Amino acid sequence: MFLRRLMGLFSLDMGIDLGTCNTLVCVKGEGVVLNEPSVVAVRKGTNEVLDFENEKAVGLVAKEMLGRTPGNITAIRPLKDGVIADFDITEAMLGYFIKKVHGSRIAHPRVVIAVPSGITAVEKRAVYNSAQRAGARRVYLVEEPKAAGIGAQLPINEPTASMIVDIGGGTTEVAIMSLGDIAICESLRVAGDDMDEAIINYMKRAYNLMIGPQTAERIKVDIGSAAPTQQETTLEVKGRDMISGLPRRCVVTSEEVREALKEPVGSIVDSVLRTLEQCEPELASDLVDNGIHLAGGGALLRGLDQVLSKSTGLDVKVVDDPLTCVARGTSEYLDHLDSWRQTMESDEDEY
Ligand code: ADP
Ligand code: MG
Repeated sequence: MFLRRLMGLFSLDMGIDLGTCNTLVCVKGEGVVLNEPSVVAVRKGTNEVLDFENEKAVGLVAKEMLGRTPGNITAIRPLKDGVIADFDITEAMLGYFIKKVHGSRIAHPRVVIAVPSGITAVEKRAVYNSAQRAGARRVYLVEEPKAAGIGAQLPINEPTASMIVDIGGGTTEVAIMSLGDIAICESLRVAGDDMDEAIINYMKRAYNLMIGPQTAERIKVDIGSAAPTQQETTLEVKGRDMISGLPRRCVVTSEEVREALKEPVGSIVDSVLRTLEQCEPELASDLVDNGIHLAGGGALLRGLDQVLSKSTGLDVKVVDDPLTCVARGTSEYLDHLDSWRQTMESDEDEY
C-alpha cells in the first residue's frame, strides 16, 4: 500500500480511449489531458515516424497532412479499416501519446485502455505490447461500451438494462448492459468513415467531382443529417472534376447529403434493431423506461436520434459531450482501480 502510494508520486495512472479517429488520454483527478486524431505521418515504406518542426508528426500535425503528403511521406490512420489495421504504427502512436502525457516521471504508469468489444486476442496482445513498450507498468483493458456507459453515468452496474450505441469513425458498438456486464453486443464496422465515403461516392455520381475524405467529413459535420431538419442548407464544396481533371467548386444541399447518408445510417439502425431482437424480455422491458443512449462523434449527426427513436419506438438520447464519453469512463476506472482491478482484464492474466 505504502509502496503504491510512493509510486503514485512519480507516476501518473492514465485512461486511454484508443479510437479509430481520435485518441484521448485522461489522468486521474485531471480529466481529459490529451485529445488528438489517431494519425501518424511516416516515411513511405517504413515505420519511421516523421519529425515535423522538431516534433514527432503524430496527432493533429499528422492529420493536417492526410491527403496532402508529397510522394515520400504517408499519413496513416493505423486503426482506420478495422480495429487495429497497422500494429507497428499503432504502437508508435500509443507510445508517443503516453510519453507526451507522462513526461519525464520515473516510475511507470498503470494504464486503462478502452478497446472495442469485438477485439480479437491478437489485437488485445498488440494493445498490451504497445502500452508496455511505451512504458506502462500494468495494462488494463475495458470494453468500450462499458466505459461509455460509465462515462455517461448510466446505471450499468445495477440490475437493469442500459443500452449504448457508440458511433465512432471505424466501428459502431451497440451494447446492452446489466449488472456490470455486457449482455448483448454487436461491433459493426460501419460508422463515421463510411458516412464520409458515402458522401465521396455521391459527389462522384451526382457531380463528377472527386473530393477528399477531409472535405467529405466537413460536409457531413456542417450540413449532414439523418432526418429532415427545420432549416435545409447548402454548402460550397471544392474538388477535382473527373472529366476535365481540373479543380472546381460546386454547391451541395443538405437534402442531397441526407440521401447520400441513407445507407450507412440504415446499417446502424439495422444493427440496433438486431441487438434489440436478441434481448431477453426482462432487459427489453427495462429499455422501455431507460431508452437508448448515443455516444461517439457519430451521435452528433443531426436527426440520428429521431431516426433511431422512430424505428425502435424507444426514447433515444445523445449523451453529454459524446466525443469524450469513453475517455471520461476510463477516468472513472482509474478512480476505482485498486478495488476494480481484480475484475478487469489485464496483462497480468497473460503470463
Ligand atoms: P473513434 O472513437 O472511432 O475515434 P469518435 O467517437 O472520436 O471516433 O468519432 C469520430 C467520428 O465522429 C468521425 O467519423 C467524425 O467525422 C464524426 N463526427 C464528429 N463530429 C460530428 C458531427 N458533428 N456530426 C457527425 N459526425 C461527427
Ligand atoms: Mg470511440
